[in-house]
Amino acid sequence: MDHLPIFFHVRGRDCLLVGGGEIAARKAELLLRAGSRLMVVAPELGATLSRLAAAGSLRHRAASFSDADIAGHALVIAATDDPAVNAAVAAAARARGIPVNVVDDPAHCDFILPSVLDRSPLLVAVSTGGAAPMLARALRARLETLIPLGYGRLAALLERFRGRLKERLPIASRRRFVEELLDGPVPELVLAGREAEAADMLAQAIEGADPRAPRGEVSLIGAGPGDPDLLTFRALRLMQRADVVLYDRLVADGILDLVRRDAERIYVGKRRDYHALRQEEINQLLVSHARAGRHVVRLKGGDPFVFGRGGEEIATLAAEGVPFQVVPGITAANGCAAYAGIPLTHRDHAHSVLFVTGHRRDGGIDLDWDALARPAQTVVIYMGLGAIDVICRELQRHGVSAQMPAALIERGTTHAQRVLTGTLQTLPGLVAGQEIHAPTLLIVGEVVSLRERLAWFHPERSEQERN
Ligand code: SAH
Repeated sequence: MDHLPIFFHVRGRDCLLVGGGEIAARKAELLLRAGSRLMVVAPELGATLSRLAAAGSLRHRAASFSDADIAGHALVIAATDDPAVNAAVAAAARARGIPVNVVDDPAHCDFILPSVLDRSPLLVAVSTGGAAPMLARALRARLETLIPLGYGRLAALLERFRGRLKERLPIASRRRFVEELLDGPVPELVLAGREAEAADMLAQAIEGADPRAPRGEVSLIGAGPGDPDLLTFRALRLMQRADVVLYDRLVADGILDLVRRDAERIYVGKRRDYHALRQEEINQLLVSHARAGRHVVRLKGGDPFVFGRGGEEIATLAAEGVPFQVVPGITAANGCAAYAGIPLTHRDHAHSVLFVTGHRRDGGIDLDWDALARPAQTVVIYMGLGAIDVICRELQRHGVSAQMPAALIERGTTHAQRVLTGTLQTLPGLVAGQEIHAPTLLIVGEVVSLRERLAWFHPERSEQERN
């Protein structure tokens, strides 16, 4: 983040705008809408500002800017078409420690003005930090269609009952109450213009609400292989309601960003050969947080039930009587295969697909090599990088051709995805010559050869893969 998004209170405060043209007029309208007392300094005013001045909405000093204009203002905006004047305004404001914005000149800005969606008291501000104002505007326009006009009235209604709600319910139950309220008929009534009915219904609901802490629960959520776009709707909804989230290294940052801001985040790390928290400790954490009435989200990479020890985590919950639900996710095999252009089954090449783990136990890998070596199937090996030599050798020893295509997919579905392809014979050598970043997935089977034709065309990706 390059900026701290804040909403600045200017109601009843003096603000200074330097410039008299139409661009200045846009800023004046914004400052006036926010209730500021506005002084405009400019030798002349254009049509819009003249009108506002004549109506008494702002004061106008018909002169060129001078340093003395700055004093006493809460905020300054320079919007002249003369860079020298704008720079002088910025310098004078900064000398006095007053926040200043120079239109279209980020270097001279202490703050920037976002694109605003106004549903007062609800405000949505969108900014690209000056990088692409057009994009911010386009996005704002989309939000416009998403957030009905009546939402402002809904916010105002909730504001009216805020005090009573606070008296009746402690914070934990209050949030749950509002969440449920938003899923119910009250917002619809407001949007339909039936505000009196909505108010009655809300008042009744508040008086009838159960002030006891809500019952805690656990959602064991598959977060998919990396790309946040691959989350399910349900995963996202539950993540937005989480009080506390337990996650590990397989969960990408972009996904964690989608968890409710105020949720407590607990890293329970866990990587191959290294466990930040033991499984039993994680299980107990889930239980204790849920017992405290929280909505606990346990985020797992991929799908919780595919090599995720999800079964162990819910076994403890079930034994302790803690309510839980499991939300499936896209497992690494599916995500990586799709993003790498490798169909896992194919009428001509593979009639079945096996998901196995290459994780070593006590130095060896415990796999049914004969089953893996059968023809017309695809074998997907999770956690197989460390044993790639052994895997490729054993498959050949059990009858698979040395020329069988194989791929290693690194950080599949993310922007850093890389695919190394070869054969059982060549892949281990190819991989040894590269710096490889976890996580990686190994796919063995004829279907790998289809990749050349089927890899999703994406200029950026193919570029990376060539390198
Ligand atoms: N529950 C997870 C798997 C956990 S085991 C799932 O369903 O995907 C961890 C292994 O998953 C890693 O060692 C790696 O083999 C694989 N994996 C997970 N995410 C991956 C990704 N984005 N790219 C490649 N492999 C991945």
